[in-house]
Amino acid sequence: MRIGALEGGGTKMVLAVCTETAEILERTSIPTTTPAETIPQMVDWFAKRDVEAVGIGFFGPIQLDRSAPDYGNVTRTPKLAWTNAPVVKPFQEALGVPIAFDTDVNAAALGEAAFGAARGTENSVYITIGTGIGMGVISNGEVVHGMMHPEGGHILIRRNPKDTYKGRCPFHGDRCLEGMACGPAIEERWGKKAYDLTDNPDVWEIEADYIAQGIVDMIYILSPEKFVLGGGVMHQEQLMPLVRARVLELLNGYPQTPQLADIDHYIVRPELNDNQALIGCVQMALSEMKR
Ligand code: ADP
Ligand code: ZN
Repeated sequence: MRIGALEGGGTKMVLAVCTETAEILERTSIPTTTPAETIPQMVDWFAKRDVEAVGIGFFGPIQLDRSAPDYGNVTRTPKLAWTNAPVVKPFQEALGVPIAFDTDVNAAALGEAAFGAARGTENSVYITIGTGIGMGVISNGEVVHGMMHPEGGHILIRRNPKDTYKGRCPFHGDRCLEGMACGPAIEERWGKKAYDLTDNPDVWEIEADYIAQGIVDMIYILSPEKFVLGGGVMHQEQLMPLVRARVLELLNGYPQTPQLADIDHYIVRPELNDNQALIGCVQMALSEMKR
């Protein structure tokens, strides 16, 4: 079977043809410019490759409510050229095959749950800490949607006592996780690129505190069996042990579980390199074919 997978990012689009077992047969990427230019390029690429379905994991916010007139569109986004841009429709019309649609983070969460670091669990949370912060939640084997898609990057956090940074979320300033802990927040707070701050322990103590606050809230609300932490900022290898330690400190011994007793295997790095979203898109496309 030939399944199309599309990871739609703000800078580039990654397109692939995969097998139903998520083996990548062919891939390419094209720069993200405007919908008028980029969408036809992508549609053409898949049209020439005879795919039986396409799974799309796209930057958000996007409309996922199938009963809404704008289902399959980007909605309000800081990438203004893409505001209200239809994504699903042009693919459906040109290819005439099932098109699955979800956020890039949800696709990544699904990929890691199906084939990566969270395989074997039914409940997991994937967190990406990069240009923004996103969380994809898998509950009983399914991606959580509900009213829209969870926006766990914007959960409220308490300021670290050592931190005087003003925050950078356009909606929540210094009150949300993304505003205080995304890559650009680190860089603005310290006036340097994040990868040039490796040797400053304060940077990573504060960063770990915020990420841990987010994880602890998710533990109490969702009780996941695994956390997978991806995104550019997590390439700082000193960060993960600090996050794990801070999570245990904040939990303060209240929940006692085998997973928390073995936290190095509870809060982990992704296992699918940079392919988790593409692989999740294959899963989504297969589910869409069954619908
Ligand atoms: P995106 O979120 O745009 O999909 P990334 O997850 O790679 O992409 O995030 C990019 C951000 O992550 C950069 O803006 C930078 O702040 C941060 N970042 C990228 N690489 C590193 C690194 N090696 N160490 C620390 N921070 C990094
Ligand atoms: Zn916010």
